[in-house]
Amino acid sequence: MSITALRLVLGDQLSFDLSALDGLDPVHDRVLLAEVADEANHVPHHPQKIAFIFSAMRHFAQALRERGVAVDYVALNDPANSGSLAGELARFAAKYRPADIHVTEAGDWRVEQALKSSGLPITWHADQRFLCSRAQFACWASGKKQLRMEFFYREMRRRAGLLLNLDGTPEGGVWNLDAEAYRQGRVALNAAEGFIRQLIGWREYVRGIYWLQMPDYARRNAFGNTRPLPEFYWTGRTRMNCMRQVIGQTLNHAYAHHIQRLMVTGNFALLAGIAPPALCDWYLAVYMDAFDWVELPNVLGMVLHADGGYLGSKPYCASGQYIKRMSDYCHGCAYKVGESTTDDACPFNALYWHFLMRHRERLQSNPRMTMIYRNLARMDESKREGVWQRGEALLERLDAGDAL
Ligand code: SF4
Repeated sequence: MSITALRLVLGDQLSFDLSALDGLDPVHDRVLLAEVADEANHVPHHPQKIAFIFSAMRHFAQALRERGVAVDYVALNDPANSGSLAGELARFAAKYRPADIHVTEAGDWRVEQALKSSGLPITWHADQRFLCSRAQFACWASGKKQLRMEFFYREMRRRAGLLLNLDGTPEGGVWNLDAEAYRQGRVALNAAEGFIRQLIGWREYVRGIYWLQMPDYARRNAFGNTRPLPEFYWTGRTRMNCMRQVIGQTLNHAYAHHIQRLMVTGNFALLAGIAPPALCDWYLAVYMDAFDWVELPNVLGMVLHADGGYLGSKPYCASGQYIKRMSDYCHGCAYKVGESTTDDACPFNALYWHFLMRHRERLQSNPRMTMIYRNLARMDESKREGVWQRGEALLERLDAGDAL
């Protein structure tokens, strides 16, 4: 049997407007969706994440059928399932001998490489769910010494014509209104600006960096960290209440708030010197909304500062005092957040200073770290020695498999 076109839709591409479906002929074309073991197992994904994605795929396949589209849907337990996307595409290409195979560029570098390595004559389509194509981002980045998100965002505002005065200046007089409550209305200008910045700035920038830098980006490790991920990230069994609560919530719901991810589990990994691939794989596995193009830059870049500064001009490191200010975790904790060197002192405190001391050479010239290093310099010598020793002891305990 031959058809006009075979169109592959991936699990994170469930949109009727997908570019791979442009010009779809419901009578002569076929759409392929496949649940494959390679994608379900390449990290130990949370069962809710797998159920969520497969469920969404099945609903989308059904919605296509209701529109009269011929769909091939391969279930995970189909005996003929080859276990990979490239294998399934090849199997159906052999079955239908289509004149064309259409695929929208993947979100995940690994997936796209696997499909490209299949040798199939795929017609690739840009992902139009993003405003800035990979080529446009590469063009913007070309020749620049620093790829600052703020300048990329201004370029995107100009290109999209959003919140601009007629003369091209930003509405409100400044580009970034994070710190101002500016104008009342249905939506305040700062709220609108912040939302737009997330969509056309941050989201597009993160994707642009990912595709510009992969695959080398995944190997970045600016601090040279090698420590394995502690076992308690998979169980929540630790005496640190903040970690226990956030990991427990994550394991139960496959979800945690951005600040819980960045300033609790991520902050601990940064301070403890966890190897970037181990932490990145953990985030990819446990969070329902984690997909490589967005998870990797956020964890490797923003959480671990392992990319050397694309996604943050300084590391998001913090002591237990920050967690105390932002949460009520410290009330129910076995550790004392006000202590740094005693046996029952909050581990975040000594690890915070230990992190700053062991990376002093790299970080102290950063203008955004000046105040922090000034505080360290002002610290009493005996206290400095005390937090260093406590930090050393905590890291040794982690290396011995102690869950703290
Ligand atoms: Fe977390 Fe430290 Fe507070 Fe305990 S005292 S909840 S370990 S920040």
